Amino acid sequence: MIDIKITPSKDKKKKPDENNLSFGKYYTDNMFIMDYTETIGWHDARIVPYQPISLDPAAMVFHYAQESFEGLKAYRTANNEIQLFRPEKNALRMKSTHNRICIPEIEVDDFVHAVKTLVSVEKDWVPSAEGTSLYIRPFTIATEAHLGVKPSNTYMFIIITSPVGAYYEEGINPVKIYVEEEYVRANPGGTGFIKCGGNYAASLASQVKAHEIGYSQVLWLDGVERKYVEEVGSMNVFFKIDGIVYTAPTCGTVLPGVTRMSCIELMEKWGFTVSEKRISIDDIMNAAENGKLEEVFGTGTAAVISPVGELRYKDKVAKINNFKIGELTQRLYDTLTGIQWGKLPDDMNWITKVD
Ligand SMILES: *Cc1c(COP(=O)(O)O)cnc(C)c1O
Repeated sequence: MIDIKITPSKDKKKKPDENNLSFGKYYTDNMFIMDYTETIGWHDARIVPYQPISLDPAAMVFHYAQESFEGLKAYRTANNEIQLFRPEKNALRMKSTHNRICIPEIEVDDFVHAVKTLVSVEKDWVPSAEGTSLYIRPFTIATEAHLGVKPSNTYMFIIITSPVGAYYEEGINPVKIYVEEEYVRANPGGTGFIKCGGNYAASLASQVKAHEIGYSQVLWLDGVERKYVEEVGSMNVFFKIDGIVYTAPTCGTVLPGVTRMSCIELMEKWGFTVSEKRISIDDIMNAAENGKLEEVFGTGTAAVISPVGELRYKDKVAKINNFKIGELTQRLYDTLTGIQWGKLPDDMNWITKVD
């Protein structure tokens, strides 16, 4: 396991108001950094004061987007313990991201150890108000100064943390979703199944367009036929039609979300049938028309569960469950957040405590 040298900041920033955190606005006193060179491998793991980093303008990350990231949270329980939700799943996913874009792997144990150590140092920053948590953002960047296209031979792995409130300021209310038919997010053989910054750059134009017409998120269709539903912005998406729950398979073009996986495990435990076969947007809009589209929700670390109240596809609008949160959606939200904040027993063995 990596050895982490800890030289924390002597200055402590003033903590923001816990009831007004919003998402990704404040950063804690310290950060984790580790370097990579071909000769030494990953080395010099350290926790240092939060500070700007200095890079050569020719650093490859700026030009060819060789970058990976992850997102997870630390939660404070009612008896003041700090805990993480399935951090090893984020570590495994980062490994798969690194493999796809030729960044050297970080061992699962090292990733989890780095996250736990940083959160432990920043313990006082884990907020306690209802629905708040410490968001953890690990990421890796290519740092070699080189303008030829090839994998970099040096990298930095960094973790920063940010106290956050609920992702949606309106609370857990249904959102309106715009089905994108012009742009696509991912194609078979591409990078849709990994967490890399480039995927998000490619999604912005569509997000801007959706916002302009009053929709908060975009539902992506498959890149080949623009027919099958894939995911929503930074969330996986589920449809409950006539009692059966559908979500896109995660083969190649869909991000394998930790929240998605956890919801599937819970629903199967509760006796629901979850289908991971492809489902078309036409079938969904038809189900809505016939009164069979019972619930739609997105899943992701940032928002946890996000009910969908309206879908717009071309000139058709489907209203879902009278714009109210559905029963299954609510049950998943209560169960996941219950486990994450330690209000429910960790029956699934998903929790890692931070000392
Ligand atoms: C991160 C992400 C998700 C959600 O993954 P979680 O592990 O549940 O947070 C879904 N879709 C995309 C495109 C993402 O980047």
